[in-house]
Amino acid sequence: MDGDYNQRYDCVVLGAGLAGLYAAYLLRDASYSVCLVEARARVGGRVCTWREGLSGQHAELGPEFIDSNHTRVLGLAKHFDLRVSTRPSFWGASTMPSPSRAAQRAWRLFWRDVRDYAAAIPEPRCAWQVPDALKPLDRLSMRDWAMQRGVWQASAPLFQRYTRNMEATEPEQLSFLSVAAQEAFYGDGVDAGVYQLRDGTDTLPKALASAFVARGGELRLDAPVHAIEQREESVCVYGVQSGKPYTLHARFAIVALPFPILTQLEWTPTLSSARRDALALAGRGKVIRTLIQFRTRFWRKQSPHAQPNQPDINALWEETDLQSGETGILSFWVAGEPVERWRRLNEAQRVEQCLQTLEVMYPNCRAQVLAARSYDWQADPFAQHAYIYHAPSYLTEALPSLRTPEGRIHFAGDYLSMFVGYMEGALESGEAAACAVANALR
Ligand SMILES: Cc1cc2nc3c(=O)[nH]c(=O)nc-3n(C[C@H](O)[C@H](O)[C@H](O)COP(=O)(O)OP(=O)(O)OC[C@H]3O[C@@H](n4cnc5c(N)ncnc54)[C@H](O)[C@@H]3O)c2cc1C
Repeated sequence: MDGDYNQRYDCVVLGAGLAGLYAAYLLRDASYSVCLVEARARVGGRVCTWREGLSGQHAELGPEFIDSNHTRVLGLAKHFDLRVSTRPSFWGASTMPSPSRAAQRAWRLFWRDVRDYAAAIPEPRCAWQVPDALKPLDRLSMRDWAMQRGVWQASAPLFQRYTRNMEATEPEQLSFLSVAAQEAFYGDGVDAGVYQLRDGTDTLPKALASAFVARGGELRLDAPVHAIEQREESVCVYGVQSGKPYTLHARFAIVALPFPILTQLEWTPTLSSARRDALALAGRGKVIRTLIQFRTRFWRKQSPHAQPNQPDINALWEETDLQSGETGILSFWVAGEPVERWRRLNEAQRVEQCLQTLEVMYPNCRAQVLAARSYDWQADPFAQHAYIYHAPSYLTEALPSLRTPEGRIHFAGDYLSMFVGYMEGALESGEAAACAVANALR
């Protein structure tokens, strides 16, 4: 068969996002033979730094914020000598009017409830194992709970702002128990979003890929997988690389693909019905990010002329606060339900919407535009969402089965971790899968 590679690897890893890269790197570092296959022509997956045409600056179309408890991200950055920095002069704005006192009071009451339930979760690291008495809370949405407690009416926009910013969804689609579980898991004393990789988030996946290849790992880019077959003693992976079909044989496989892709592959034998049912409960967070580079950073020198009335844009902030130069880049965040409207616009129309909003704050600023990009993660064929959110029932009914291997096939990806939809979660899941495969190979 064309491209049938007789070499049998210890492990084939599918997907060179952070989960797959880290799993492949750890296994290769332990001297196992590993082939890592990736559909795109680059590594990093949802880590995607825009650099072209920006005259030496860069900005993130995917992740950028690193929390103080993201120890794997921070540890790897140190290990690979990547510059990490806090963001002392971070500029940001909201398009939402300031909330009333009543709204703030209702919001505080809600979070008091969340903290009470968080304290009742005995093992936050595996929050899916909550006591039976708490399980019904996983069937309620954040909005359901707020309605029951009588705090929804007063503070609906605050709930919406929170879920769109953090979870890329709406309050009625997010499990209340998951909110409490994440509060328990994060605990007190975590500084959220304080760090950034100074030279671009993509420096991390690139460093992992270089280290993997330097140690003798095999990396195949532009090689989407379309079928996986599990035999008694091996796993066969079928794909197409640069237009040519290939087959890979390995003793084990780690599938580190975004969860929406899993049910689109051909599986022999078929994926278990438990996994299919569980995948149907995973929430596809929606984000469109728009980035615009301007000749000067006028937002630092002038106060906004007026408050814009564009609730679809949940937040805007500067991307270049750690970068030198006169020019600067702003990021516009559209997430959750408004994405459904924005995805019907083309890239130029989305940029135009952002500029119209910004011109309410800073009249005539469009005269300073140098470059712009807008990216819809739902339309990306190799991601099909931005990041997971825990829809009702996902935490207690889906996560345990999704974390379980199927024979020789192990799974990794940010959707399997309590670092929900974070780079740290991708790394944690990759580490867990690599450990499990290494144990089985020993
Ligand atoms: C807009 C946005 C903002 C974010 N902000 C943050 C943030 O501030 N902080 C943070 O920590 N996290 C953030 N995240 C989440 C973070 O990007 C992800 O959690 C993490 O990158 C996921 O890594 P992964 O390896 O699990 O998945 P992915 O990065 O999606 O990797 C999966 C890989 O599989 C490949 N693939 C897909 N199909 C195939 C196929 N058929 N064959 C072979 N390969 C295939 C993909 O191309 C991809 O490379 C953000 C994400 C987005 C989109």
